[in-house]
Amino acid sequence: MLDVCLLGTGGMMPLPYRWLTALMLRSQGSSLLIDCGEGTQIALKEKGWSAKPIDVICFTHYHADHISGLPGLLLTMGNAERKEPLLLIGPKGLERVVGALRTIAPELPFEIQYHEIKEAEEELRIGTYVIYAYRVNHNILCYGYKVSILRAGKFQLEQAEQLKIPKKYWNRLQKGETIVDGEQRYTPEMVMGKTRRGIHVAYCTDTRPTDSIEKYAKDVDLFICEGMYGEKEKEAKAKEYKHMTFGEAAYLAKKAQVRQLWLTHFSPSLTHPEEYMEEVRKIFPRAKAGKDGMSTELYFIDEEV
Ligand SMILES: [Zn+2]
Ligand SMILES: [Zn+2]
Repeated sequence: MLDVCLLGTGGMMPLPYRWLTALMLRSQGSSLLIDCGEGTQIALKEKGWSAKPIDVICFTHYHADHISGLPGLLLTMGNAERKEPLLLIGPKGLERVVGALRTIAPELPFEIQYHEIKEAEEELRIGTYVIYAYRVNHNILCYGYKVSILRAGKFQLEQAEQLKIPKKYWNRLQKGETIVDGEQRYTPEMVMGKTRRGIHVAYCTDTRPTDSIEKYAKDVDLFICEGMYGEKEKEAKAKEYKHMTFGEAAYLAKKAQVRQLWLTHFSPSLTHPEEYMEEVRKIFPRAKAGKDGMSTELYFIDEEV
């Protein structure tokens, strides 16, 4: 199961009724945060979720509305007596930018580890999460993320019996271990069925539509995409500032055949995103305008892949 919460839905600046865009994921006691603008920790408090179990923070880029909340959040995690290391992931410059922010949060009871993304596309496995970073197209270096929880195939009991694999090894094979017992070698492939569909969430903000987004959002359970402007007439402005309109986000969702779309990162001037959703749903029906604190639980679906 994956717990998903869109903590905030604002772009550029936090508003009294709208925190800056950030996404929190929780699975098996480990939390992952994407982006951390000013006020993200208040949004987290409002949701009633804790900052302490955050094991990973991914940054899309280093504009203030996506990172300036970090020092305060680190201090809060420190006050909660977190001891485990925290992994930060972000584009080139990560250590320099965070280092500068850390001058106002210097002493922490936990270690900070860095992973600077160097390639246009990268894949990382951290605990239960598989994180894919992919470059997008903003006015500074910016990445989108896809986060997946993978699911192995079913254990084939009959096959294990037929192959006369000792019962004592079944559990280890199921966990992906290869076992050598004298002359015999047992591999997970001998007893595991086809890989089943995992849970997939794609997130991108501060970008024009790109092929990379379409690639990584392909068939995801939930696609969270920026929609800076509601009006179609603002497409020229969106192009100039490297953002997207609702319509452009909807076309992306349609092309990527995602299962659900949530829009976020609204311009401060866009006070009622809902007003534009009818048009969006004409392009892509399973679309929602994001709201602060909007959350869902995603479960494994029984599909072979
Ligand atoms: Zn932004
Ligand atoms: Zn930006």
